[in-house]
Amino acid sequence: MNSSHSKKVIIGLSIAVLFLLISNIATLRKLDMTSRSPETVLEAVTDEVETIEDETPSTSIVGKIVLVIDDFGYRNDAVSDGFLALNVPITCAIIPGHRQSSEFAKKAIAAGQEVIIHMPMESTLNTPGEDEYKLRSGMTSEEIEWRMNEVLKEIPEAVGMNNHQGSKATTNGKVMGVVGSVLKKHEKYFLDSRTASNTVGEATMRQLGVPTARRHVFLDNDPEVEKINAQLNTLVSVAKKRGIAIGIGHAKPNTLEVLKQRIPILVNEGFQFEFASKVVE
Ligand SMILES: [Zn+2]
Repeated sequence: MNSSHSKKVIIGLSIAVLFLLISNIATLRKLDMTSRSPETVLEAVTDEVETIEDETPSTSIVGKIVLVIDDFGYRNDAVSDGFLALNVPITCAIIPGHRQSSEFAKKAIAAGQEVIIHMPMESTLNTPGEDEYKLRSGMTSEEIEWRMNEVLKEIPEAVGMNNHQGSKATTNGKVMGVVGSVLKKHEKYFLDSRTASNTVGEATMRQLGVPTARRHVFLDNDPEVEKINAQLNTLVSVAKKRGIAIGIGHAKPNTLEVLKQRIPILVNEGFQFEFASKVVE
């Protein structure tokens, strides 16, 4: 090896070392840890990953809240649109047979929300309306089945059903048995609105193997803002205590206002909003 050759080798090595140094400095700069050696940088990076993992529990779920909004189908306006734009999962319960029913179902799906049928069922009070849809305890199984199939055809977007009124029909084992068997065939769930304390809805669905759940709190039986807030507080405490709480409200302006105001706060507090389909079992 002559001296000019070894000079070339030394120059070559120096360039390589210089290159390594520069690239190291660049890496260190990038990591903003110029004072540390490459080994400690590696450790620091690992620490950083661990720190991120350690922080995950702080964003853990305080409770799950399911918001079901009933009586869609009557309106298609700024109020009904407002529920679709709440930025959390909203289960939209649509009464079949109204002018806006199937139109609103499509709109809700397009907005990424969940649609269920809000099935008119016989009440102990003689309430008028939806007479050609209402399931009555005096009906034959064939009549009930026919009405069920008609509404499932009208709102094919629906993944489940809950009851509109129904303080009489939901206590009737035969009615709920037919409702359950049709839902089972179509793989839909049943959410018991619990308009009667002696409802057999949930028990019948469990017997038939239909996914089911129950409403815990009605949000707006009293439509005053103050009362809706109080009912929402109850729903929140149920969610904290039980892990899951299902609240039913109605497509009305005050309910929308309260939810608009409080949902972002509840999300910040760690509550997770879910569709009813995620909690039925
Ligand atoms: Zn209703």
